Amino acid sequence: MGDLARVGLVVVSHSSALAWAAVGLAQEMLHGAPVRIEVAAGLDEHTLGTDALAIHRALLDADTGAGVVVLMDLGSAILSTELALDLLDDEARAAVTLCAAPIVEGLVVAVVAAAGGASREVVAAEATAALAGKQAHLGGVGDSPDDASGASDGATAASDGATAASDGASAASDGASAEVVGRFVVANPHGLHARPAARLVQEAGAFDAVVTLRNLTTGAGPVPARSLSRVATLGAQKGHDIEVVATGPDARCALDHLLALADRAFDEDLAGHAPQGGGAPPLAGPVRASGPMPASPGIGIGLAWVAASAPVVAARTTTDDPAADRAGLAAAIGRVTEAIRAVRADTARDLGEQDAAIFDAHLQLLADDDLLGDADHRIGSGEGAPSAWAAAVARVEAAFAALSDPYLQARAADVRAVGDQVLADLLGVERSLSGATGVLVATDLTPADVAGLDPVRVAAVVLAHGSPTAHCAILARAKGIPVVVGAGAAVLDVAAGTLMAVDGTAGEVVVDPSAEEVAHFRTLADAFDAARTRALQRADRPALTSDGTTVLVGANLGSLADAVTAASSGADLAGLVRTEFLFLGRQHAPDVDEQEASYLALAEAIGGRRLTLRTLDVGGDKPLGYVPMPVEANPFLGLRGLRLSLARPGLLADQLLAVVRTAHRTPVSVMFPMVSVVPELLEARRLLGEAIERDGRGRPSGLEVGIMVEVPAAALKAAAFAPFVDFFSIGTNDLTQYTMAAERGSGDVAVLGDPYDPGVLRLIGCVGDAAGAAMVGVCGELAADPAAVPLLIGLGVHELSMSPLAIPQVKDAVRGVDRVAARDLARRALTLDGPLAVRALLAEGR
Ligand code: PEP
Ligand code: MG
Repeated sequence: MGDLARVGLVVVSHSSALAWAAVGLAQEMLHGAPVRIEVAAGLDEHTLGTDALAIHRALLDADTGAGVVVLMDLGSAILSTELALDLLDDEARAAVTLCAAPIVEGLVVAVVAAAGGASREVVAAEATAALAGKQAHLGGVGDSPDDASGASDGATAASDGATAASDGASAASDGASAEVVGRFVVANPHGLHARPAARLVQEAGAFDAVVTLRNLTTGAGPVPARSLSRVATLGAQKGHDIEVVATGPDARCALDHLLALADRAFDEDLAGHAPQGGGAPPLAGPVRASGPMPASPGIGIGLAWVAASAPVVAARTTTDDPAADRAGLAAAIGRVTEAIRAVRADTARDLGEQDAAIFDAHLQLLADDDLLGDADHRIGSGEGAPSAWAAAVARVEAAFAALSDPYLQARAADVRAVGDQVLADLLGVERSLSGATGVLVATDLTPADVAGLDPVRVAAVVLAHGSPTAHCAILARAKGIPVVVGAGAAVLDVAAGTLMAVDGTAGEVVVDPSAEEVAHFRTLADAFDAARTRALQRADRPALTSDGTTVLVGANLGSLADAVTAASSGADLAGLVRTEFLFLGRQHAPDVDEQEASYLALAEAIGGRRLTLRTLDVGGDKPLGYVPMPVEANPFLGLRGLRLSLARPGLLADQLLAVVRTAHRTPVSVMFPMVSVVPELLEARRLLGEAIERDGRGRPSGLEVGIMVEVPAAALKAAAFAPFVDFFSIGTNDLTQYTMAAERGSGDVAVLGDPYDPGVLRLIGCVGDAAGAAMVGVCGELAADPAAVPLLIGLGVHELSMSPLAIPQVKDAVRGVDRVAARDLARRALTLDGPLAVRALLAEGR
């Protein structure tokens, strides 16, 4: 059934809006495999008219081998279509049927018939008869007040047809292989929007199974679970009942896995979540319904730098060399994919995996069979890559925009953003805003645009549109760039070079400010910057306690950009490299060469300082599409971190080889996450030995080995681990979660998951007491809190590692610590009854 060519449909109308609305309606009824529907409507989005050349192209694009049925609206639509028909060669013309059916009713019926595999003649006949039911009803009840119910019966008849088509599909698949069926109810507040949908698509793709989804509540679908654009067309909202049908060798596993995932609401934090430490500060200031809105705090004064708008392809381009166009498009998609991965890594670092997951939706779109297949098909029929890509993107964007749920409609912006990025690359348009200085004024920005901004040169960003919760705003906050959004289209008329003053905290923009206004903004800016600058000035110097002991202050890295920030923030080393950033959001693991090159690039960016490379820490809350993981009732207690690496040792073996190779070139420590028992460490060390043998050059001289202490049992048994490690690094984020039995991402138990709880502090003290010659560090978020510094030093900690921007202030805090007094402080803290008392004690000492 899946390979069967289906009749394609073309809608010709004077109005683009009308045609797309009809398509949106028809797609809601679609109960079959994909049906190609092309639209040739309006002279452009807003101008009424018909264009024979556009229709000609649509006719070519719509034919996937079973011919085309065309539905037209009035007058010149028919004439233009006949003209377009004349432009076709004889063979192509013979495959087209012009159908007299009314567009809306006809299209709904035609789509359903085509989905069921009906021939061109049957599709056209069904469409032409589409009015019959309505005519009969209206004819009979014309004088009665029940006209409306008659009309609605007509609609039901169309939907009955859809169900019949779907039954046919299910019977066919029964014959092909055993089919398993399950259902779930959507729990996510915004329904299956981009993030949960991307997660579903990604996970469905990991199994050797064909999975389809149907929205039983609305009747939409079935759609292939591997296509994000198609899954979105289910319009699945909270409370909707979704049917999952799987066939193929892994059908049962796939079904169980997806149902478990749905049961966990696709791991979306339904209670809402705060960014975890060190990332962007929370959004301050009032959020208004319209007008300029604050989106990232801070003050910026500078000359306007007005960004060029996104590229457009005004007319259809053609190609004589489809292979070259295909290769060009693939290369552009590849480059944009890389760029988005980099943004994703930055976001994961600054804001956590939850926010970073939005980029999975972008990455999924760039690998979406439906979108790529459409562009490919268009190129195959002679269209140049830029316009083929633009048309394919426009089709998917329109499908999102036609959905009834406003949240899903808004995802059309994601499609456009990703589409524009590829188009700009393809056209060689310098979309990069890396040259931006002063106050950047733009219509809107993509997250990738913001990732490329230099916070030193860009004083502020003002957007005509946009929202404070958009991902570009989140990223700007993470980068410390003040932003005002929703300033209105008039701001785009500001001449480049005009002085502007921006208050990203209050959401205020003044164009061409007076001298007094400038002075006011300067005072605000000075106060804002003073605190940051004070600490930065001394950041390069080592952090010595008042009694002369050096405490190393390092950076946690999750991207190359982090390493650059770390170097300029005075990092003494990278105390934690979250190597997951290389592995997440892609289809295959990076090979040894790629890993080595990435680690060396980090080392170079951080000025050759020591890198503490943590081996892959996935599983639990961080699944990897290409590593099969069991469905676990409690993933945080399941195959996470080193446990997963030892269960699938191939990945670990390659990573350790890359670590060894890197360690021959630059100082490296290797660190194993989520260790609970000594045999796990010994097995990991054995694999490290094998990697050294595989490399063949002997053990690198500077290579150190350590473990993360995240499991309470490991802290309590530190003495047993000590002979086998050079260092312990205490991951207070997970150690707190496991000690307090309070999930780290859950708002409901956030108050329990407090690292200042004396229970957690005692475990840190256990490690400090039992470490012997091994060095003790902390790399959880607690290390980034200057208030915690004396306490941690008093508990026996010698190294602190954190998000790079926090380093200067923590170094300052170390300078104020006397170690004897710190030990006394720690002793007293351990006797207290809770985190509030501990905080009060620390406040006394300040
Ligand atoms: C931790 O658990 O404290 C830690 C640093 O690791 P991650 O936050 O990456 O789990
Ligand atoms: Mg951890």
